[in-house]
Amino acid sequence: MPFKRNVYDTAVYREPTPIQDRENPFQSMVERFDVAAEILELNPGFYEYLSRPTRVHVTSVPVMMDDGRMKVYEGYRVIHNNVLGPSKGGIRYAPDVTLNEVKALAAWMTWKCAVVDVPFGGAKGGVVCDPKAMSPDELERLTRRYTANLMDVFGPDRDIPAPDMNTNEQIMAWVLDTYSMHARRTENAVVTGKPVELGGSKGRREATGRGVMTVTLAAMDRLGLSPSECTVAVQGFGNVGSIGARLLSEQGCTITAVSDISGGYYNADGLNINEMMDYAKAHDGSLEGYPHADPITNEELLTLDVDVLVPAAKEDQITESVARATQAKIIAEGANGPTTPAADPILREKGVLVVPDILANAGGVTVSYFEWVQDRQGYFWTLDRVNRRLDRIMRRAFDRVYETAQEHDVSLRIGAYVMAIRKVADALQMRGIYA
Ligand code: GLU
Repeated sequence: MPFKRNVYDTAVYREPTPIQDRENPFQSMVERFDVAAEILELNPGFYEYLSRPTRVHVTSVPVMMDDGRMKVYEGYRVIHNNVLGPSKGGIRYAPDVTLNEVKALAAWMTWKCAVVDVPFGGAKGGVVCDPKAMSPDELERLTRRYTANLMDVFGPDRDIPAPDMNTNEQIMAWVLDTYSMHARRTENAVVTGKPVELGGSKGRREATGRGVMTVTLAAMDRLGLSPSECTVAVQGFGNVGSIGARLLSEQGCTITAVSDISGGYYNADGLNINEMMDYAKAHDGSLEGYPHADPITNEELLTLDVDVLVPAAKEDQITESVARATQAKIIAEGANGPTTPAADPILREKGVLVVPDILANAGGVTVSYFEWVQDRQGYFWTLDRVNRRLDRIMRRAFDRVYETAQEHDVSLRIGAYVMAIRKVADALQMRGIYA
């Protein structure tokens, strides 16, 4: 049905805003931050400043729906910090996104950028909506209005969005266009993860999964394992999970299980990831009904007898009970915040090598940085150049985190926080506090 503005039907309805957070992801971030801050003997003023966001934007996003009625969505953009440079981070669309979650994700972006040494601060955006229940036209109007509302926040030198859960290249193209219309010039460096035709970078789409692959191989090296003797289970079959699984299988690993929203899929002989990606593409993004695998539950997938577990879905999946039952030797966190703070010591006690989110999934923002550099130079790199530089950065970051962890006798997660907080705190010290 064509879009028609029905001026007589002005009913306004809101998406239900979640009142109660499940776990509080921001608290999960702060608990790890506290441990690292203590190791660093962080000055209390810096502690206060770095443990909370610099700015929080909450905005109402009115959208005319295809049926002519208006809906008002709640949108967020949190700038955690911009000491190292303009703030950077994705925008997620999900029915259950909360402000606390976006605050945590924004802080994780600050630490992530510092771990891989890209000159950005951290931010994150979110809109409480169910993108699966919306038409492409409705999603376009939502995206454009959200962008227009945040016109003074975004900018290539201020705050640069990117894709995250349920957002993609097309949505970034709408952000670019809306921002550019208001700015009266085409400003392609205002957003990353956009189509290559609009100044996107080659390799950006695969970058997070590729980074997961690189750090997983680095972790295997440390444990003396070779990819061809490793089995892998991947939770989540979105951009990160599917590409991470495909690249690990190309390296010789046997992927015995993957899952998506429709459930888990297991094959002891190894799944054909390319075939599964084609299947999902042909079935509205879902693996439902995929024939060459046995069904398993989410819990079963997380506790399977595999060498490597890649949680690449959402927060708080590896709980205390999962941590106790898991059989993996390596956990590479493709998702942000997949492990609860209470699960951390259990995994460490068991000797599981956990490659933390702020390192493992930093490949995405690293190539976002490359994209931003290319846009600003107006000079675009080959895929080979992007991938080589990404691999080098991820390897180096892994080694530095590993050494920092050893030096302080802590987990890789705390090692990564120590490295990141030290870097941001040093920069803050040099800049000083403006008063
Ligand atoms: N949303 C991605 C993340 O969580 C990418 C962010 C970016 O490229 O700015 O790391």
